[in-house]
Amino acid sequence: MDERMVLWDVDHTLIDSLGLGGAAYHRIFPEVTGRPVQQRAVLDGRTDLGTIDHMLRSHDIEPTEDLVSAMATALAGVFEEVRAELAERGRVLPGAAEALAAFDADPLLHQSVLTGNTADVARIKLGAFDLLDRFDLGIGAFGDDHLRRGGLVPIARERARLKLGIDFAPDRVVLIGDTLNDVRAAHESGARLVAVATGSYSAEELRSAGAEVVFEALPPPKVLRQALG
Ligand SMILES: [Mg+2]
Repeated sequence: MDERMVLWDVDHTLIDSLGLGGAAYHRIFPEVTGRPVQQRAVLDGRTDLGTIDHMLRSHDIEPTEDLVSAMATALAGVFEEVRAELAERGRVLPGAAEALAAFDADPLLHQSVLTGNTADVARIKLGAFDLLDRFDLGIGAFGDDHLRRGGLVPIARERARLKLGIDFAPDRVVLIGDTLNDVRAAHESGARLVAVATGSYSAEELRSAGAEVVFEALPPPKVLRQALG
């Protein structure tokens, strides 16, 4: 059997982070820009770079490198502050811990994240739930790597090539995620996708968008392992 790279989405796939992302944006935007929030932040599987870019532009603010970087830093600062609350009130979604443990122990799988969260925020979130050990974050891709989620897949493949010496063909890469943006990222990059309807999209919506493998929630590890192809 061939080796595979499994790239997990974080929010609503592995964990429920209490909608703290949207709240964080509403807090940092006035702090960083000096302007009130007039348009809500749209997350929904976007990368944080994409969300920041969209939020600034929707307020007629030019997304300069300094401003984008200041927003990303402020975002991580908020998550550092709410880390304890996240650990206490948030939760790891059913099936996630079991699947992560099983895949971690599978020598044919290389497991990391492909997430809209910046690397700093992803580390805080996964750390809050003691999940960091399950991933090789050095081969993952994050929300501060690219404006669009689809752009993250080639970045993760390149990191795997450099770090592991393995050139994963796109169809040896499996994304596990919950949004239409996860579906699009897989289609755009040629990666496989396992979709879970544990976020704001129903299984039917994910299927209609072109997801071929859809679960209502993370299944037992053996079932999920089979679905990786
Ligand atoms: Mg998600």
